[in-house]
Amino acid sequence: MTNQPLSSAEVTHLAAGLNRVARNLWWTWNQGAQEVFLELSPRGWQTLYHNAVAVLHEVSDSELRARLQDVDLSSKVRKVITDFDAYIQDQGTWGRQHAPSLMARPVAYFSAEFGFHETLPIAAGGLGILAGDHAKSASDLGLGFVGVSLFYREGYFQQAINQDNWQTEFYSQLNPKNLPIEPVLDAKGEPLVCTVKIASAQVMFQVWRVNVGRVPVLLIDANRPENEPMYRDLTQRVYGGDSTTRIMQEMLLGIGGVRLLRALGYQPSTFHMNEGHAAFLTLELAREKMAEGKSFADAIEATKQECIFTTHTPVEAGHDRFNNDLMTFAAGKFQHQLKLSQHELMGLGRVNPEDRNEPFCMTVLALKCSRAANGVSELHGAVSRQMWQCLYPDKKVEEVPIGHVTNGIHLTGWMKGTMRAFWWRKINQGHTAGAPIPSLEREINSNEFWLRTADTNFITDEELWALRYKLRRELIEFARRRLLMQGQRLAHGDFISYDQLLNPNALTIGFARRFATYKRAPLIFQQLEKIVQLAKDRQQPVQFIFAGKAHPRDDEGKRFIQHIIHLSKHSDLKGNLVFIENYDVHVARQMVSGCDIWLNNPRRPLEASGTSGMKALCHGCLNMSIMDGWWREGYDGTNGFSIGDDTHPLDVHEQDARDSENLYKVLTEEVIPCYYNRDANGIPHHWIQKIRRAMVTLVPQFNTWRMVREYTEKYYNTAK
Ligand SMILES: *Cc1c(COP(=O)(O)O)cnc(C)c1O
Repeated sequence: MTNQPLSSAEVTHLAAGLNRVARNLWWTWNQGAQEVFLELSPRGWQTLYHNAVAVLHEVSDSELRARLQDVDLSSKVRKVITDFDAYIQDQGTWGRQHAPSLMARPVAYFSAEFGFHETLPIAAGGLGILAGDHAKSASDLGLGFVGVSLFYREGYFQQAINQDNWQTEFYSQLNPKNLPIEPVLDAKGEPLVCTVKIASAQVMFQVWRVNVGRVPVLLIDANRPENEPMYRDLTQRVYGGDSTTRIMQEMLLGIGGVRLLRALGYQPSTFHMNEGHAAFLTLELAREKMAEGKSFADAIEATKQECIFTTHTPVEAGHDRFNNDLMTFAAGKFQHQLKLSQHELMGLGRVNPEDRNEPFCMTVLALKCSRAANGVSELHGAVSRQMWQCLYPDKKVEEVPIGHVTNGIHLTGWMKGTMRAFWWRKINQGHTAGAPIPSLEREINSNEFWLRTADTNFITDEELWALRYKLRRELIEFARRRLLMQGQRLAHGDFISYDQLLNPNALTIGFARRFATYKRAPLIFQQLEKIVQLAKDRQQPVQFIFAGKAHPRDDEGKRFIQHIIHLSKHSDLKGNLVFIENYDVHVARQMVSGCDIWLNNPRRPLEASGTSGMKALCHGCLNMSIMDGWWREGYDGTNGFSIGDDTHPLDVHEQDARDSENLYKVLTEEVIPCYYNRDANGIPHHWIQKIRRAMVTLVPQFNTWRMVREYTEKYYNTAK
């Protein structure tokens, strides 16, 4: 090793490379890159909430240049840049081999929300997270892919809890300069501006590009000086405002999205609608075809060949419906461009086109204008076929053309740093010098790798248990920090010693998701006294960590939150139950990694898939779940715990009572005894065996590499 200082050119190269990496979300699933940003400013990394772009603003150019003379740092930076460039330039991807036609004519994937990372909070929940994970895996697989969504300047709300334990919402402005996004420019180097006629206005929008590894996701932003304030604010908040805002946002997304792709020269082979919000894109595609002289019927038929649709929920409120007046008000001008009568346009969104009282349903439009449609788990596929059989009166339920592709998660993106480092060490264990360097991505996404986790020579029980302890402690310390912050803000009277909260030795049960009422967050506390007894058991203690946001207008969901926080402060569960405020992907990552049990108790069959439980698997956290969504396909009797069986009573009260009883039963008869069945050294071998089974049987299946390949093979790759 020489002690020569780096040349000025080399320093410039490294600094520029690091800036490129910060502006590509690839770093959010690369451990080395994250360690570099952390090292540059450990405090900034924390206070700026893991925002690489903001950290590079915090650290001045001159500081960065000076510090790159530290050989330890510069070699790490060089490795990150080399890995990044190799990733971006890889010509041997799965996509190039298996779906080469998509390189020239990509899949255009439209979603009203994308959840990528805590620094870009433009998702409300699972739908957006799934879209983000879909894009990340499309990148990893090297698929021809472009995403389209909206840029919400105030993002999704942040949650605060007031003195009455009631959720309140606040918003902060995102600053594009501090985000991994860049303006999309036209040929003259000016910001690209496109328009959509909405109501009586010509609404203009600009576009931001998010680089997600190899694939772009384009975000529509109506905040232009030319627009009246009402239209400027259309893209202010995720699902903000009322149904007028909603229909206008959806026109921007669907119609604007197609126009923007055309302006940039895209000729997608498939338009994939992730939920009905994007379904107006079909009308714009039809309009294009009619402008070329096709009849309306021919245009719709041709559009249908280009589109596929994924439906995500059996919950009624999840299907947007707009009445006659609203459609006329918002889309009247567009309807003229389509050269349709109001009645004809409304008919496209009606089950019965002749029923003048039926509102316009985005799901109906999407189903009518797609060549293929799917639900997001096997059971959800079946439920959707039943739900939409009305659209296919000549078909039996099982012939309704809605299939299923079960959801997944982007594994390396969801893995906690501790875990990535652990698996990386395992991947390299026994690696012989001279052999090709393994790729974390490839190994982590392979069946073979997870098969090896069954082998006690590959990982010992002691090693796995040490890991579980480490992850649990990290979560508990995270929770203590967050609760201290929450407590300070509230400054309520009764003093809690935050360092005494939660017990690093206790069986830790986690529940975190949107507080939609069908997810039944407080179900477990229906048997409060019995649960208190479990929590207070000195030999076999149990504790609970909850988090989640209710929709701003969902008072029932807010009452659930209030109830749980009340229990955490004023019942005998105090100290054994905490509620972490402001659930987001960072909180999610801490919780799915540190908990021992991931609790999921939706009212069956309303959880179309669910994905948070999948994030738990690779961390050795086990699922305890109703047999709904993905778990119904995943559970095999050895790899976690099921609450009840593969049936449900139709009466919801009966269902709640039965599920609450079964929950307590499986907890006390299976979970607790298994967890506390220890050998002389305190190792729970049976528990660890279940962790291994979950890793072997579930991780390779419930991920978005499998999912995106399945979409490609079933739906995208028509020109193969
Ligand atoms: C994974 C995730 C979800 C979806 O979780 P479900 O179990 O499907 O409800 C929602 N929000 C965040 C922040 C997540 O990370």
